[in-house]
Amino acid sequence: RGGLYFVATPIGSARDITLRALDVLASADVIAAEDTRSMRRLLEIHGVPLGDRPLLSYHDHSGSGARDKLMGFLEQGLSVAYASEAGTPLIADPGYHLSRAASEAGHMVTSAPGPSAIVTALTLAGLPTDAFFFAGFLPNAKSARRSGLEAVRDVPGTLVFYESPKRVGAMLKDAAAVLGADRQAAVCRELTKKFEEVLRGSLGSLTEAAEGRNFKGEIVVLIDRARGESASEDDIEGALRSALENMSVRDA
Ligand code: SAM
Repeated sequence: RGGLYFVATPIGSARDITLRALDVLASADVIAAEDTRSMRRLLEIHGVPLGDRPLLSYHDHSGSGARDKLMGFLEQGLSVAYASEAGTPLIADPGYHLSRAASEAGHMVTSAPGPSAIVTALTLAGLPTDAFFFAGFLPNAKSARRSGLEAVRDVPGTLVFYESPKRVGAMLKDAAAVLGADRQAAVCRELTKKFEEVLRGSLGSLTEAAEGRNFKGEIVVLIDRARGESASEDDIEGALRSALENMSVRDA
């Protein structure tokens, strides 16, 4: 069926791709990718022949020419599969402008969902997942980074940041200063890859641990919400338990 298909691809382990994503890549009339080389490799690994189908490079910032070309294919009633370099398109990755253009023009827009570092990190961090806020990448400059942290200080949910290994130490230090050294946090590194690692602890202890380290690879930092401002599941459970204990003491 003609339309735009966003396809999620692995964030590390090549086999983390869904059967439907492979079906979409095998059957699309046109494939577009943020990085055509990674796409060729992915197709090769999974034995999906490209054949004589067009494989185009598309990035939201690559100018309207590439987008117009893809829109032209959609106008002809063709199916276009789009994948970013890793994980889910549009999530700190290109695809947003293409999605808007296609939906505004009335084309079918759908997704073959799959991996994203946000959800993978949330499942491992050991922090509440009832509500979370994805803050993307913080600015590189210290004062802008601190302002970015101040802006999310009171969000009633787990904060999720993408961070570069070069800056993670400075980011943790700023987070401890702005949000408080006691807040629980996690540093999730190289998810689904050989050297996958999750460091958990307070922002203060993680800052200390980061001081002697030269982080490598891809990183997600997660930070618990400010405590006492809104109830997490643990808070509610704890409150219920103590309420029940008080009741049974009173009843005895
Ligand atoms: N679209 C991707 C997604 O759905 O997660 C994110 C792309 S963004 C350009 C790349 C950033 O995502 C990395 O700098 C890192 O913060 C995070 N990331 C991607 N893969 C990761 C992995 N395997 N482990 C930890 N973080 C990862």
